[in-house]
Amino acid sequence: MYITSKNENDQGSQLLHQSVVTLDRIIYSLAKTPNGIRLMVQADQDDFRLTLFDGERTHHGNETLVSACLTSENAAALRTQLPWLKPVALGLKTSAGMGDRLGLATPGHVRAIRKMNGKIAPIFTQQSIRENTRTGRTPQQVIDDAMWGIFQENWRDGYGADADHLKTTDDIDVCLKAGYSFFTVDPGEFVDNRAENADLINLRNYAKDLPSELNMEHSGLLNQIITAEHLSLTFDEKTLLKSMVKYGRAVWHVFKMYQYLLKNAGARPVEFEVSVDETDNPTSHAEHVYIASELRRLGVKWVSLAPRFVGRFEKGVDYIGDLKDFEHDIKGHAAIARVFGPYKISLHSGSDKFSIYKIAAQATRGLVHLKTAGTSYLEALRTIAALDPDFFKEIYEFCRNRFETDKVSYHISAQLSHAPIPSAVDHLAELLDNFDAREILHVTFGSVLKEKAPDGSFQFFDRLIRLLKENSELYAENIERHFLRHLTPFVMNE
Ligand SMILES: [Zn+2]
Repeated sequence: MYITSKNENDQGSQLLHQSVVTLDRIIYSLAKTPNGIRLMVQADQDDFRLTLFDGERTHHGNETLVSACLTSENAAALRTQLPWLKPVALGLKTSAGMGDRLGLATPGHVRAIRKMNGKIAPIFTQQSIRENTRTGRTPQQVIDDAMWGIFQENWRDGYGADADHLKTTDDIDVCLKAGYSFFTVDPGEFVDNRAENADLINLRNYAKDLPSELNMEHSGLLNQIITAEHLSLTFDEKTLLKSMVKYGRAVWHVFKMYQYLLKNAGARPVEFEVSVDETDNPTSHAEHVYIASELRRLGVKWVSLAPRFVGRFEKGVDYIGDLKDFEHDIKGHAAIARVFGPYKISLHSGSDKFSIYKIAAQATRGLVHLKTAGTSYLEALRTIAALDPDFFKEIYEFCRNRFETDKVSYHISAQLSHAPIPSAVDHLAELLDNFDAREILHVTFGSVLKEKAPDGSFQFFDRLIRLLKENSELYAENIERHFLRHLTPFVMNE
């Protein structure tokens, strides 16, 4: 029997029916109140579990209702009672990462995943340290925000939490503490691009600086022909040296990070991804074999690997390049992943790449992980454009001014001169479907979220969040529709 809060702060509150969980004589739910969404916990007044939650208590007969704020402490308490709210390892199942920079997108993500009928395992929490810096959030907040969305939609079928693009052991510490289950290590800064055009003499010289554990003889690859299904790769001295020089230090860094993770995770099951996607040149099939073969020799176990593919994976827009070239490329990588693993091929900057999803799903035979992040923020802007066009216009003008500065850390080809000015379109939301405007809106997210007005208040952030919270159904609908387009091509035979 549900009771409603008599707390005066909760007057006019509305139960979010989907969230209601009754477990072992205690009822948990979320309610929308004039002061935002609150957690409601109801049980017999003597139930000790009520003491886990910090909030206002009201009594109804011999029942007590706690109305609690969505704090990190209450999130942690709820996780102790509802174990499915803790991130888990997902294994080799086809999976999709749905990063959320605002902390409000998860309900829409859950709804889209639910329509995949269990065929895609979700990562509802995914954020890199770089994104955390740009959004001003901590890894713990990212975990908690997604968890409230998961609880709201009553998702109990497991999910992963991806600590993305980790570069240092400090990054591992903070993400382990916050409860992440999936650790993506990015050794990009150890990739040596001099290898790309070096001659044999130079390669030999560069290779001398590698850790002795990685010398050529140890690799066991010299003068070998390595086959992986349809692939046959000859490791003559130059091919091996080029792979070693380009990726040797990266391999060593991954090995060190992996050891550190295992040591500090203790008995907790964690998954590991290796990502070399953010590098200047594509990862050749031979280089992929070198990386996989060496990591395996060093005892590293990983669930997915993100090569840098041919073509361009720009943020928030479709694949740029020849689809036949991409197909040839991913088929080779997928064959290596089956033979040296099996492990999944991970598609980073994977959002909005609609032209390659079917190809990737088929080439990998479902051993694939799709990673998306900023596209959920763009759907937030689409929601804003519908709700408050003038506000959206303000944001867009601001982004245009920030673009030349903010684009520096990205590989993108948008040009300000090609992006329409607001008066040139009939509906502002069209800007979100324009290549150049879309990239401009994408790469400036950190500036939009952090910009302060002269009086010290946020220029956009508070208003943006308030509009999305007040119109959470519209945002969830936009996210769901957008993600169905991403996920459906990965569900085979449909
Ligand atoms: Zn990436």
